[in-house]
Amino acid sequence: MRREADPGVGRTRSPVVVIGAGVVGCSTAYHLARMGATGVLVVEKEKFVGSGSTALNAGGIRATFSTDINIALSVEAIRMFERMEEELGCPIEYHQAGYLWLARSAAQWDGLRSRAPRQRAAGVEVELLQPSEVAERFPFVRTEDLSGAALGVRDGYADPHMVAQGYWRRARELGVRFELDTLVLGIESEGGRVKSVRTSNGTIECEVVVDCAGPFARQVAALAGIDLPAHPVRRCLWVTHPFDRIPGLIPLTIDMDTGFYCRKESGAIMMGLANEAEPSSFNTQVDWEFFEHVIECAVHRVPLVAEAGIHKAWAGLYSVTPDRHMVLGRVPGLEGFLVAAGFSGHGFMHSPIVGKLTAEAVLHGAPRTLDCSPLAITRFQQGELIHEENVI
Ligand SMILES: Cc1cc2nc3c(=O)[nH]c(=O)nc-3n(C[C@H](O)[C@H](O)[C@H](O)COP(=O)(O)OP(=O)(O)OC[C@H]3O[C@@H](n4cnc5c(N)ncnc54)[C@H](O)[C@@H]3O)c2cc1C
Repeated sequence: MRREADPGVGRTRSPVVVIGAGVVGCSTAYHLARMGATGVLVVEKEKFVGSGSTALNAGGIRATFSTDINIALSVEAIRMFERMEEELGCPIEYHQAGYLWLARSAAQWDGLRSRAPRQRAAGVEVELLQPSEVAERFPFVRTEDLSGAALGVRDGYADPHMVAQGYWRRARELGVRFELDTLVLGIESEGGRVKSVRTSNGTIECEVVVDCAGPFARQVAALAGIDLPAHPVRRCLWVTHPFDRIPGLIPLTIDMDTGFYCRKESGAIMMGLANEAEPSSFNTQVDWEFFEHVIECAVHRVPLVAEAGIHKAWAGLYSVTPDRHMVLGRVPGLEGFLVAAGFSGHGFMHSPIVGKLTAEAVLHGAPRTLDCSPLAITRFQQGELIHEENVI
């Protein structure tokens, strides 16, 4: 038994229970402990931390968004990634190789140009490039049919596994306990307050529960009687054999026309493309049928890919909300219940700042570093959805 003194048969007590030891749960637990919280317990159904979507993502980190809240979250997160190796005392393979957004239509190019001033005003370094400049700087890109491009200079990618492990290790050093291989089965409340969490390993009495359950966050919220509109959607990644025809680091490159994106991964090319027509499901089988379309888009935009063979592929789950923005913070009507979920494909890049903001919400009643009111769960009932245009 790894918990505190047993207040009854099969019952233990932890003031704060974080559900899910993905990168978001680990970051939240670390920030809680760093801010002085004691008795933080993370409950995870798998045997290892970071084995959900955290283990399956592309590691992309960018501030080139269209909404003020996403830009602000990313600016803070990138500052945190920049000093993370020192803070956590471990490598995270962070490469600020950039994000290159390629516009084909005039409307896409207008969009990139109109968003740049707002991004720059928030501190994001963005370069607008003519197709000839793209051809010169990034010769692996087919540019004949492009109208222009935007380069997020300090965007890039890191290793999600290393980041999650780093938060986990530091959180443990700061006194956080992790209970792995333990499924959360129920969340009990009394008088409008969270009271306990029932798990496959006993019941934990608590005052605060944070739902960091990734694609399962809707199911976990439902255990507390909360309707969280965040749905799992399959996303696949394919990685080529080591491929030296495109040397060095390249930006994470996105063809806005098709949604195809790629970056370098250990000397190979990693690529993905969302199948927007696919309905919500927990399916994590690689969609090889859809791959035919992916490779067509890939070869059109990055012709050299035709010479590379596919080495491996995997599928994981996005957790997507109706406006593709996360839900963050307290849930009105159930005191002590907080959500940090529904990241819609951006949960890794935002995990440092989300952990910090969630810890602030637990300890101070609301986030302090940023105004997170646009991300409140109440926006869905109130029809205050936020529209993000730079989606992958
Ligand atoms: C193919 C792909 C590419 C992606 N690319 C990017 C990218 O480039 N950049 C980016 O920022 N994001 C990307 N994402 C999204 C990113 O992976 C997620 O947003 C992020 O990992 C969310 O982290 P999390 O900790 O919330 O979820 P998870 O890592 O899924 O962690 C949730 C944890 O909760 C546990 N859990 C669930 N239910 C229970 C329960 N009842 N009891 C106990 N434990 C439970 C799970 O086992 C899991 O370990 C990508 C996702 C995919 C699938």
